[in-house]
Amino acid sequence: MAPKRICVYCASSERVAEEYLQAAYRLGSILAEHSVQIVFGGGRLGLMGKLAEGALANRGKIIGILPRFMQDLEWGHPNLTELQLVDDMRERKRRLLLDSDAVVALPGGCGTLEELLEAITLKRLGLYFNPVIIVNIASFFDPLLAMLDRTIKQGFMAPQHADMWVAVPNPEDVLPAISNCHTWPDHARDFAVLTRE
Ligand code: AMP
Repeated sequence: MAPKRICVYCASSERVAEEYLQAAYRLGSILAEHSVQIVFGGGRLGLMGKLAEGALANRGKIIGILPRFMQDLEWGHPNLTELQLVDDMRERKRRLLLDSDAVVALPGGCGTLEELLEAITLKRLGLYFNPVIIVNIASFFDPLLAMLDRTIKQGFMAPQHADMWVAVPNPEDVLPAISNCHTWPDHARDFAVLTRE
C-alpha cells in the first residue's frame, strides 16, 4: 500500500555537514512529489527546516507538531501547511505517530534517536505496526545499527526483531523500502519478551 502520511524524525542542528542538510531537503521534495503528507517536529532549523523547505518548494503538505514552549522560543517553522501546538513532549510524540503509515529517521541528535527508538519499542510491543526506515546517510547510523544487532546477538531482543527497521543509504530509497517492507505480525507480543525456554 502506498503511504499517505509519513512521520519524519530529524535533527534540529544546523551545525552539521551539508550532505545531511541536502538529504533532508531531498526527502522533503521526494515525499511532496509523490503527494505523501509529512508530519514532523515542526522546527524551522537544521534538517527539520530543510525537510520543510524541500516539501514546500514542491507544493507538498507538511504538518508540524510543536510543544508550546518551543513556539515561545521561536523554534517553530513559520510557513507550514499546518502547525499544531501541544502542551508537552509526550503529546507531541503521540501525535507524530498517530495515523502515520510509516516512520522515517534522518540523522539527528538525542531527540531523533529517542523518537526512533520509541517507534521501534512500540513496534516490539505490538503498539505500532508500520515500517520504520532509517536513512543511513554517510553511514551515520552504523554505530546504532551495530548496537541494535548486539542486542539481538546477546539475547536482549529476538532475531525476528531485526525486521522492525530497515536501513537505506539515500532518501531516494525510502518509498521503495516502504513498499517492500515485511508486514509486522499482529502477534508481535508473543515474541516481545525473551524467556529462558
Ligand atoms: P535532535 O535530533 O536532538 O536535534 O532532536 C530533533 C527531534 O526532536 C525532532 O524530530 C523534533 O521532534 C524534536 N526537537 C528537538 N529539538 C527541536 C527544536 N528545536 N524544534 C523542534 N523540534 C525539536
